[in-house]
Parts: sequence; structure tokens; C-alpha cells
Amino acid sequence: IFIVVDGIDGAGKSTQVDRFREQFELAGRETIASKEPTDGPWGRRIRDSAVTGRMSLEDELSAFIEDRREHVAGLIRPSVAAGKIVIVDRYFYSTVAYQGLRGADTDELLKKMRAEFPIPDVTLFFDLPVPVALKRISENRGDTPNEFEHEAALRQIRDLFDHMANVCPEVEKIDCSSDPDEVTQAIARTLLRRLSI
Ligand code: C5P
Repeated sequence: IFIVVDGIDGAGKSTQVDRFREQFELAGRETIASKEPTDGPWGRRIRDSAVTGRMSLEDELSAFIEDRREHVAGLIRPSVAAGKIVIVDRYFYSTVAYQGLRGADTDELLKKMRAEFPIPDVTLFFDLPVPVALKRISENRGDTPNEFEHEAALRQIRDLFDHMANVCPEVEKIDCSSDPDEVTQAIARTLLRRLSI
């Protein structure tokens, strides 16, 4: 089973991924949690560029795509084929949203991504109002917000995720404005309904 979590920053994705991984393991299902960008060479290059200077949009896009190719071929496909539950934090939806914000053609990019990469069994979009997201980003993290973490950018990012939620049948929006336990319950209901797990 292939599950993706994605969405705007500050919604608490990693907390929920940890919880579900634990629950699946307790239920006796072998579970792999991974993320994009990965810790592989392409992923590291992407991460480094956040510090050393942003790549051009074109280079950045191809780095994300190469990173995803390796991730899909090396980990996602074989693990799913072996019957494991694979949970991935960020996937091609983030590429469409963040590189779309930098000027990439979002509809074309989404089409290309869906043609090349496996579609998850379910994708959870962690959603919350932009002012709440900004508040959480500044409260929960000691560092300064990055270029995507300002109101106007977050609004555009959220709109792009909303658009993808409307056109991608595997996507379920999860309202993350309530407390973490309620969010966990909402996710559990969604997984039960969509995947019977
Ligand atoms: O996954 P995580 O929350 O750590 O990602 C943080 C940041 O990575 C996002 O706020 C965004 O700046 C950046 N990102 C990006 N392009 C992607 C995925 C993430 O620029 N495709």
C-alpha cells in the first residue's frame, strides 16, 4: 500500500506520520516511512541548495524528478510489491505546488508527473488556514521562515493544493486546524474508508 502525505507547511505532517507508522507496526504490518526530497545524492543537492543558493527553476525541477525516479525505483515500487505499507512525506504534489509557485506550468507538470510516477493508493493533503499555518511555523520552530512561508506565498501554495485535491481522485483533504488527536482520528477514518486499514 502506498500512502502519501503532502500539503502546506506547519500542518503537523511528521507528527502524524510517526503515529501511523507506529500503529501499523503494532498491527503487524511492516511499514516504511520515507520523504522527498530523499537522503540520496539528488535529495542532498536540493537540500544544500536551500543554504548555498537556489538552483534555476529548470535545474531544480530536474533534480526533484531525478530524486523521485531513484526513490520510486529503489524504494517505493519494491517495498509496495513486497506487501509493505509505504508512507511518503511529500511527493509530486509538492513539486507542482512549490515549483509552480516559481513559475512552472502547474497543469502541465501535474500531467507529466501523473504519467511517469505511480499514483498513491491514497494521498492525504494536510490543510489548514494560512494564518494558523503561519502562527504554527513561527511558534514551533526556532528558525526564520523560508521564502515559501509568508502569507502571500502560502496562500498560493494552498490554492494549488486545493486545485489538485479537486482534480486528483486519490487525494483526501485533512483539516489540521483541530488538536493533533482529532487529526489522527480523522486520518484513521479516512484510511479505513479508502483502504480498509
Ligand atoms: O518537507 P518539509 O516540510 O521539510 O519541506 C520544507 C520546504 O521544502 C518547503 O517549505 C519548501 O520550501 C521546500 N520544497 C520545495 N519544493 C518541493 C518540496 C519542498 O521547495 N518540491
